[in-house]
Amino acid sequence: MRALVTGGAGFIGSHLIDRLVDRGNEVVVLDNLSSGKSSFLSHHDEKVKLVNVDITSLDEIIGHFEGIDFVYHLAANPDIRLGTKITDTDLKQGTIATYNVLESMRIHNVKNIAFASSSVVYGEGAPMPTPENYGPCLPISLYGASKLAGEGLISSWCGTFGHKAWIFRFANIIGARGTHGVIFDFIHKLKNTPDNLEVLGNGRQEKSYMEVGDCVEAILHCIEKFDESINLVNLGSVDTASVTNIAEVVIEETGFTDAKISYTGGDRGWAGDIPRAMLAIDKLRASGFEPTYTSVESIRHTAKILIEEIGL
Ligand code: NAD
Repeated sequence: MRALVTGGAGFIGSHLIDRLVDRGNEVVVLDNLSSGKSSFLSHHDEKVKLVNVDITSLDEIIGHFEGIDFVYHLAANPDIRLGTKITDTDLKQGTIATYNVLESMRIHNVKNIAFASSSVVYGEGAPMPTPENYGPCLPISLYGASKLAGEGLISSWCGTFGHKAWIFRFANIIGARGTHGVIFDFIHKLKNTPDNLEVLGNGRQEKSYMEVGDCVEAILHCIEKFDESINLVNLGSVDTASVTNIAEVVIEETGFTDAKISYTGGDRGWAGDIPRAMLAIDKLRASGFEPTYTSVESIRHTAKILIEEIGL
């Protein structure tokens, strides 16, 4: 099997590639290394070919889709906050890039795609836990809009050109090789100011967290188990944690136990942030997959690993 992974040098992509190689796949990676690192793939041999290319250019990527059996489309701007300052990033890196991937697939007759979407497509005020069939989906961030647009494009390629898709709406994914997100930020903040940890918002934002190994195993499990033309699955864990809970765990694990937590205030971290989110994962569990970690367990596990990786 020849797989193509966009964003394969990134946090989640590199873990996915480890599993794909274990299963005997050859992998072509399209990544411009904007937030990914070639070192995340350096333990692989020639079975993994990294192509440093920007997927916002259709001309530059199209040839790489020849002879591919399955596309995992993970490349995107990972920073939801960026949309508050630069308003066309998600349009280009999310929506247009997804069009380029789909058009390259159509031209080279590659039929199967898995897509990294997000819980933020559900918008604010959705019931918690949120099932896949909740709607209408009205995202409140530009990032969320680009994910929903990507889902729409993929669904239209399935309906019009006979493609087959697995769309995954991720909770917050955390774990080894993390290069962004709340735990990563807190470790860096404490490293700079060990006596104070500034938390964006009031700390009561409550979300669910999934360990990255669970996430990539769940992706591969769902591709085997679900066989519709479009397969939409929430990927998350069974519980939630508040930002204050995370701050406390990171303070404990770093050993900076004199640090005081200060809050910038307000009910959310930034404009477009959704303060409370939890995905219903009944569909995933009914298919026979149980996440190994709860949110709370994955937060502590990740804090320990990232402290090692970042160094204090
Ligand atoms: P990441 O930043 O580590 O991975 C993204 C990868 O895409 C990086 O390697 C980056 O270099 C690459 N990339 C970005 N723009 C590109 C471009 N124009 N051309 C080529 N390569 C490009 O982030 P991640 O956390 O691993 O996220 C992977 C996917 O999962 C993303 O689509 C993200 O939106 C989605 N997602 C992540 C989370 C999470 O909590 N981490 C939650 C929901 C959805």
